[in-house]
Amino acid sequence: MIEIRDLHKSYKMGSSSLHVLKGINFSVAEGELVSIMGSSGSGKSTFLNILGMLDELDEGSYTLDGVPIKNLNEKIAARYRNKFLGFIFQSFNLISYKSALDNVALPLYYQGINRGERMEKAMAYLEKVGLADWSGHLPNELSGGQKQRVAIARALASDPKVLLADEPTGALDSKTSYEVMNLIQEINDEGRTILVVTHEPDIAAMTKRIVNLKDGKIIQDTRVKQIRALENV
Ligand code: ADP
Ligand code: MG
Repeated sequence: MIEIRDLHKSYKMGSSSLHVLKGINFSVAEGELVSIMGSSGSGKSTFLNILGMLDELDEGSYTLDGVPIKNLNEKIAARYRNKFLGFIFQSFNLISYKSALDNVALPLYYQGINRGERMEKAMAYLEKVGLADWSGHLPNELSGGQKQRVAIARALASDPKVLLADEPTGALDSKTSYEVMNLIQEINDEGRTILVVTHEPDIAAMTKRIVNLKDGKIIQDTRVKQIRALENV
């Protein structure tokens, strides 16, 4: 699904430059649930943003579901992004003046799906994340965990091949974090490929594979033998 070869990324600031990713090789097969760990500033978000086609790589290659991703114009990049990828963020990024249902329906609007079908599908995804009864509520009437569930439903609405989550539990208490990770596990069990950036070992332990980033390189790539389930928390 994902194939990264010798990836480099620097940020240029005036005359100086910060080399953040220094030769990353990384593959993900369809159906994997992978966490990317590393201390703050180690380049996790930079890496995820490149995987999510939100940022460009400087050197190396990236193939997503067989499609080479490099030097695409913004229109084509946006089309691939909508087709292949769903995003979940630490800060939820919901639209504050839209209901939970309308937030979930938004990606379907951009896909040109008519209103009736949009609402029906969005409701089905809200049901899937356990929030059918909250469809008419605004984000600020929901708890943090509920907001993240709405964001997960929205990410799923466009039926992406890969879900990318940047610190999805970073703003949640630990019990809610485990519940959100349990939902992510369930979505993965249905076959969807998911990458989760986190700096919390307990969260990474709920995935099937842990990749450690340090000094711009992958220093460890481990299959998890005993995946932590909600019941064991
Ligand atoms: P992490 O997500 O692991 O905390 P980031 O990928 O956000 O790390 O950042 C890696 C490094 O790159 C940090 O030193 C950060 O300050 C720097 N950085 C991130 N984004 C930018 C940017 N847009 N411009 C310049 N430097 C950046
Ligand atoms: Mg980050």
